Amino acid sequence: MERITIFDTTLRDGEQSPGCSMNVPEKLRMAHQLDRLGVDVIEAGFPIASEGDFTAVQAIAAVVRRPIIAGLARACTKDIERAWQALQGAARPRIHVFLATSDIHLKYKLRISRQQCLEQASEAVRLAKSLCDDVEFSPEDATRTDPEFLCQVVEAVVAAGATTVNIPDTVGYTTPGEFGNLIRTIREKVRGIEKVTISTHCHDDLGLAVANSLAAITAGARQVECTINGIGERAGNASLEEIVMAMRVRPDRLAYDTAVVSEQLFPASQMLSEITGVAVQPNKAIIGRNAFAHEAGIHQDGMLKNPLTYEIMTPQSVGVPDSKLVLGKHSGRHALGLRCEQLGHQFDRHQLDEIYRRFVVLADQIKQVEDHHLLELIATIRKEPATADHHAQVKPRPLAVAAVAGTRSDSSCEHSQLLLSMPIPTDIALASLTLNPVSERRADQEDYLWGV
Ligand SMILES: [Zn+2]
Repeated sequence: MERITIFDTTLRDGEQSPGCSMNVPEKLRMAHQLDRLGVDVIEAGFPIASEGDFTAVQAIAAVVRRPIIAGLARACTKDIERAWQALQGAARPRIHVFLATSDIHLKYKLRISRQQCLEQASEAVRLAKSLCDDVEFSPEDATRTDPEFLCQVVEAVVAAGATTVNIPDTVGYTTPGEFGNLIRTIREKVRGIEKVTISTHCHDDLGLAVANSLAAITAGARQVECTINGIGERAGNASLEEIVMAMRVRPDRLAYDTAVVSEQLFPASQMLSEITGVAVQPNKAIIGRNAFAHEAGIHQDGMLKNPLTYEIMTPQSVGVPDSKLVLGKHSGRHALGLRCEQLGHQFDRHQLDEIYRRFVVLADQIKQVEDHHLLELIATIRKEPATADHHAQVKPRPLAVAAVAGTRSDSSCEHSQLLLSMPIPTDIALASLTLNPVSERRADQEDYLWGV
């Protein structure tokens, strides 16, 4: 199986998403987890963007030694030198240079011609290469760039010494078929392309980031840029966990391998949510709260008989402690009985019928019956004058207490919601940037500091 390089940009592109900014110690914690997860490249930040970014890249480079550590830079001297300075202590440094190539960006954002763009890209890569062997170049907004011009730029940066060429769908505009074709075109038309790694970087504005990334891989890309929980600019980046597990679960269609330790996916997701205070949507694939929850009675029954009936991967394979059966009005007796057992209550068929009858009434009122609701219901029934036999009224085992304590997690969700609505801190350091000669002539160019 062909090996795909996993380039994680949670700490750079991901951190740019509203509410997801992290301080240096938080980035360090996350970087260690990404190392445990087995990603190949960690994009640790955008050193020129702020002191904090610079320090974070420097700190991560100093202590996280296995993966490649990348620093982002615009295609100008100051940015590249600053990135290189931050990467000094890295065991395996990479400078990641980007420059927009689409006409709309050239005309309205950079105000340079195609020819100037071509020259600036080559010059920047040459400079980066003179400092660092490992150089990545990204033609920003590649998917809205004239393919012919895109191929010219890629050829120029390959000649200038780039070792990885990343094709970003910066605005999340492409579709799988189109993106696959673009990668194929680049492979066919660009001289020297076989010497470099083609990479993909997709945004999720149309919900296609993962599909587009996989299409690019199928077309020959061998590095994929992605983030934990899919965080990133606007609708986010391609989600690392989804890409990795798509390849793990479907090697028949996607015969590619990664070095990711999939059991570390859930812990990584949890850590990121905890650090940023931004919760993952419950139905998020792989790591969402409901990703392994089965509510419908027929599903629950099947799951209890054999998990393969409804589970294409085990929760354990992605680090989720256990499959969770949600008790709602569609749940069956079997699932209810098992949950009662787990809470320390054994019932015979007759008693279970009575509990089930009341459970359905309750589930109609409150969508989801938590363990504490179920315990209250059981307690109410126990207090009532005995109508049937008493032998089944076993006292709860001590375990029940722990089980109940672990179920009341709603408060953390509310906390995250609150954080989401808080104003996003703006970085004052951005205002004091020194700019390259090109942009000094055009002051309006300085107000973009978001990457690809
Ligand atoms: Zn991006």
